[in-house]
Amino acid sequence: MNDILLLKLGEIVLKGLNRKGFEQKLMGNIRRRLVPIGKFKVTCMQSTVYVEALEEGVDLDAAFEAVQKIFGVVKISRAAACEKDKDAIARLAIDYLRQDMLRAKSFKVESKRSDKSFPMTSIQLSQYVGGELAEAYPNCKVDVHEPELIVNLEIRDLAAYVHAQPVNGAGGMPVGSNGVAVTLLSGGIDSPVSTYMIAKRGVRLIPVHFFSFPYTSQQAKEKVIELAKLLTAWCGKMTLEVVPFTHIQEEIRDKCPEEYFTLIMRRFMMRIAERIALSNGARAIVTGENLGQVASQTMEAMASTQAVLKLPVLQPLIGMDKEEIVQMSRRIGTFDTSILPYEDCCTVFTPRHPRTRPTVAEVEKAESTLDVDALVAEALQGIERVTLDLEET
Ligand code: ATP
Ligand code: MG
Repeated sequence: MNDILLLKLGEIVLKGLNRKGFEQKLMGNIRRRLVPIGKFKVTCMQSTVYVEALEEGVDLDAAFEAVQKIFGVVKISRAAACEKDKDAIARLAIDYLRQDMLRAKSFKVESKRSDKSFPMTSIQLSQYVGGELAEAYPNCKVDVHEPELIVNLEIRDLAAYVHAQPVNGAGGMPVGSNGVAVTLLSGGIDSPVSTYMIAKRGVRLIPVHFFSFPYTSQQAKEKVIELAKLLTAWCGKMTLEVVPFTHIQEEIRDKCPEEYFTLIMRRFMMRIAERIALSNGARAIVTGENLGQVASQTMEAMASTQAVLKLPVLQPLIGMDKEEIVQMSRRIGTFDTSILPYEDCCTVFTPRHPRTRPTVAEVEKAESTLDVDALVAEALQGIERVTLDLEET
């Protein structure tokens, strides 16, 4: 019999009537995530998802790693299976939990029976297997109040399962259970983290990147594609929209006062992002903005960029310290790519003395020399789409 994975569902169990829909979404996400790894059976019972390999030689470690990045799962454990017989279960527990039992000072056994025809009650089974474990590992004492290690037994339809401490899952809600948003993805440290955070709340994301070739290089674009690809481990399959931004930036440079360059540029980003959102059923725009981090991230500057929008802007990093963002970016696996030294369109034509406390009227006046609608339409026309999916492992 094969090892299986047990995944405990998170917040979705609180959702009452919606629960079924949430579970379905999550199971779909798990199944898709496992496709590159092998054939698995994925079933759900009582807020636990069971993942079972359907063929020999499937890499369950790879599956374990993959499901750690699926939002909506709070705990994951790997369990070994045996026949539904108390001595077989005790033998398996002694064998399978050897490392845990040698390390821990105290333990207790907890049993669950979904097969009610099993001849012992849960308590009897726990006592029996607990006794056998205590005998096999005399240095690890039974402690039912504050055990260091909890040994879990489950009697299910086809087999009995043994597992120890679960590891934490990704938490959050299943991607796709909470609508769609556009996320502005630069090549920096911040925006991959903001994308991750909104995906964690169950939102499916459409990444948008503004590209100013030749002011920004082909490598800068490749870097953003790589970041989006890394994010698919958390966000699922995504289509990156690469928007040509060169003409807009040149127009701004040639026709607007320098101190407003960045603000006007950001207003264009927002307008274009909103158009992409509306044509894809997305309901918000996500950015990696962080209060006070740069001149365009004061409250006044953000008011002037958001004034062109009807959709809400979600800024999950707004109150974080840079160090916290960096830590998170390391943890989610985007940091090393983010720090590759290619420039972003925000760093070309940067004003020497940017306005930090603009009024909306002032910025509107500064951009009044531009044909905004025509420039937006032209950029939308030139979008290049790159679809990113998980790779075979
Ligand atoms: P990041 O580290 O994410 O680049 P940042 O601190 O450098 O952020 P800005 O460059 O001012 O800040 O950008 C603020 C936000 O605007 C970014 O987090 C991102 O969401 C968006 N953004 C900036 N440049 C681009 C771009 N070229 N394409 C898409 N979005 C962008
Ligand atoms: Mg940036």
